[in-house]
Amino acid sequence: MNKIGAKLHFNGVVQGVGFRPFLYNLAICHEVVGYVRNMGDAGVEVHVEGNRCNIERFILDLKSHAPPVSEVADVQVEWTDCSGDFHEFSILASDEQRSPLGSMIPPDIGLCDRCTEDILNMRSRWNLYPFTCCASCGPRFTAVLQLPYDRDRTNMLPFPMCPNCLREYEDARDRRFHAQGVCCHSCGPKITLHDRSGRLIDEVGALEKTSHLLDEGAIIGVKGIGGIHVAASAVRDDALLRIRRRKHKPSQPFAVMSRSLDTIREFAYVSDSEAQLLGGWRRPIVLLRKRRDHGLSDLVGPGLDTVGAMLPYTGIHLLLTEFCRSPALVMTSGNISGLPMAIAKDQAIQELSDVVDYFLFHDREIVARCDDSVVRLLSEVPTLIRRSRGFVPTPIAVPLKAEANIIGVGAELRLVGSVLRGDQCYLTQHIGDVDNLETMVFLQDALEHVLGLAGIPHNGLTVSHDAHPRYLTSKLAKDLARDWSGKTVWVQHHHAHAASLMAENMVPVDESIVAVAADGVGFGLDGDVWGGEILVASYASFERVGHLARQPMPGGDACAIFPLRMCAAMLSPYLDDKRVRSILLSKKGRGALKEDDLDRLEAQLRGGLGVSWTSSTGRVLDAMAAGTGVCLERTYEGEPAMRLEAVAGEGNPEDPSSVPSLLVRDGGVTVVDTTRMLLETLLAIGRISIADACASFQQSLASALGHAATEAARDRGISQVGVTGGVAVNIRIVETIKRCVEEAGLDFLQHRLVPPGDGGISLGQAVVAASKL
Ligand SMILES: [Zn+2]
Ligand SMILES: [Zn+2]
Repeated sequence: MNKIGAKLHFNGVVQGVGFRPFLYNLAICHEVVGYVRNMGDAGVEVHVEGNRCNIERFILDLKSHAPPVSEVADVQVEWTDCSGDFHEFSILASDEQRSPLGSMIPPDIGLCDRCTEDILNMRSRWNLYPFTCCASCGPRFTAVLQLPYDRDRTNMLPFPMCPNCLREYEDARDRRFHAQGVCCHSCGPKITLHDRSGRLIDEVGALEKTSHLLDEGAIIGVKGIGGIHVAASAVRDDALLRIRRRKHKPSQPFAVMSRSLDTIREFAYVSDSEAQLLGGWRRPIVLLRKRRDHGLSDLVGPGLDTVGAMLPYTGIHLLLTEFCRSPALVMTSGNISGLPMAIAKDQAIQELSDVVDYFLFHDREIVARCDDSVVRLLSEVPTLIRRSRGFVPTPIAVPLKAEANIIGVGAELRLVGSVLRGDQCYLTQHIGDVDNLETMVFLQDALEHVLGLAGIPHNGLTVSHDAHPRYLTSKLAKDLARDWSGKTVWVQHHHAHAASLMAENMVPVDESIVAVAADGVGFGLDGDVWGGEILVASYASFERVGHLARQPMPGGDACAIFPLRMCAAMLSPYLDDKRVRSILLSKKGRGALKEDDLDRLEAQLRGGLGVSWTSSTGRVLDAMAAGTGVCLERTYEGEPAMRLEAVAGEGNPEDPSSVPSLLVRDGGVTVVDTTRMLLETLLAIGRISIADACASFQQSLASALGHAATEAARDRGISQVGVTGGVAVNIRIVETIKRCVEEAGLDFLQHRLVPPGDGGISLGQAVVAASKL
C-alpha cells in the first residue's frame, strides 16, 4: 500500500507533561514512523509517515487519549509525500533555542490514576511510596528552580536516581521517560513523623501512624508539595475546636480532603461537572452544597450550606486518606493569621508548634509556596475563587499587545501579582491578605520568580497598582519602580476588575462593556469607598454611570466588623419608627445594639465625625445579614454575606422590592436606593420567613444592578454586560444579573480564568496600564 507523510500542528501541548512517551507508544501501536521534538517555545513538532489509515487512527487516538494536561484541541494535518527517511518513531533532542516569548513550566499535576494504582498495588515497587509520580503527574511549579526544566534545576537534585529508576527514566517507551521527579523507596525523599518541637518519632510507617493519630483527634502539620497543611479529622469536634482556638479562627470555613468521590458524596451533593472538577488533574478544592445529614463536624464551616472538598493530589495525601477511618480530613493552610503559609521545617516548627500536636515532614524542599485553588460552579461555569496550585504559572492570553513589560501588584486582599508581556499575562500564585511585611516580601519574591521563569528583565518594568495611596502594595509599586528604573501607573479598583473581565473574555481593544463591579471595598476617585458600581469601561478609561446609594459608615471599619451598626446607619432616616427600632434592638449576642448605642450612633451621624461613606455591595449584604439576625459579627472576610447566602438558599424570593421603585436618576447617573430595599424587606419579615426575606433581598439587589446595567448598555449601544468583583461568586446574584442581561438581548460576560474577586485584579491593572502607555 502507498505510504504517505503528515506534519501535525496543534495548540495546547506543554512540555513536561508526558506527551512524548505517550506519542512514542501510540506510534508503535499504529505502526507509523517519524519523530516528535520539543520546540523552544514550549510546543512540540510531530512528523509521521505510514499508511494513510494508520496515520488517521494515530491522530484520532492522539486527540482522545492524550495526557489530560496537554489539552490537545484541534489537530491540523498537513499531508506530505512519504520521504522514506524514517525507519522507526523517535524522540529527537529538544530544540534548545528559546523563542522570544519564552517557555513556561506546567502547573503542578495531581496524582494520575496509574500512579495511584502503583502506590496501592502490593506487588509494585512503588507500593506505599508517597512520592510516586510519572511524566504526566507530579509537582512542577512548586518544584522547579529555573528553566529549562531538567532534574538538576528542581528540588530532586539531592536525590540521584537508583539504577531501576534511571532505566525507566531513559526508556522512551516507559511512562516515566524523562519524568524529572521520578524516584522510589530506595532513592527518593523520605517521610518522617515528628513531635511538635520537631523531635523525630517515627520513620518507618510514619503515614500509617499519622492516620491513626488523626482518627484519635490529633492535629498534625502535614508537609505537602506547595506548603504545610494543618490536618485533623473532619468528624472530631474536639480537634476542630482546638484548631479554631489555637489559630484564632472562630468560624472561617475549613477545606476537607477525602479518599474518593463516593466518600465526598456521603456528605455533599456532587453534580457531573463538579465530579469532573474534583477528579481533574488540577485537583482544586470545589465548593459543594452540604447534605443536611452530612455527618461532618459543624465546626468545618459554621453557618454555611457549602463545604470545600478536594481529592488527594499526591501520594502523601492518598495514603493518609486511605489509612484514615474518618471520611474526610480538614486540610487548612498552615499559617498563623495573616502570614504566608510555612514551607520550611524550621519555620513550621517555630510558627505552628502551638497549633499542632505533631508534624509529618519530608526531606524534599518546596521551591515555590502554592496554596490549594478553590473553584465553584456558577450556572455551570467553573469560577475560580482562588487561582493557585494546578493553574499557576500558565499564562492567560489577552487581546492586546503590551509594548512594554508590565507588572501588577494587586490591591490589599487576596493578593495575586501579574506579569504582562506581549499578549500573555502570567499571574503569581495566591499570596494572601496584606497587613504585614512578610506578605509583601512573598509578593515581591513571587513576582521575581515569575519574571525569572519567563526570562523577563527587571529593568524598565512598568508597575501598575491600586489608586489607594496608602495601600502597602501602592508603596511597594513605587519602591519597585524606583529600584528597576521603571514607572508606576495607578488604576482605579473597579476599573481593574472590569478590565480583567474584559481581558479574559477577549473583548477587543476598541470596544467598551458595561460592568457591574460588586465587592466589599475599593478606593473611589471621590474619596468614598466604592463597591456597588456600574461602569462603562474600556481598557483605557471608564465612566461611573451608576452605583448603590451612598451610605454612611459611622466608625468606619466598625460597621464592617459589627454589621448591625451598618444596618442602623442605612436605616437612620427611620430610627423614629418603632418597628425599625425594635428590629434593631431585638438582636442578641456580640455585635447587638442597645438604646443608648442607637442614640450615640444618631448623634455621630448628625455630627459627621468619624463617618465615612460607601456604595459597597458587601456592606449592604452585611446590613441585611445583621438585620435578620443571621450574622452580627464578622470574624473573617465576607462572613456575613456568605451566611446570608446560605440562609437565602433555604428560601424563595417571595416578595422582592419592585425594581423601578428602587432606581433613582441623579443627573446621568442611576442610583440604587438600598435604604428602601433594606427597609421594605426587613418589614416584610413575619409575613414571610427570614429565609424568604434573605432570598428576596439578594434578588432585589441583583435585579436593580442588572437593570441599571442593561439600561446603561442600551442607552449607549453597548452589547456586552458583565459582572465582576468579590460578590460575583454568589450564585443567586450572578444568575439574576445574567437573566436580566440575557432577557434584554445582550451578551453576558463572567469570569472563568481569573477570580472575580481581588485575586483577579492584577490582570486588570496590567492591561489598563498597557493601554494607557
Ligand atoms: Zn503518574
Ligand atoms: Zn529509585
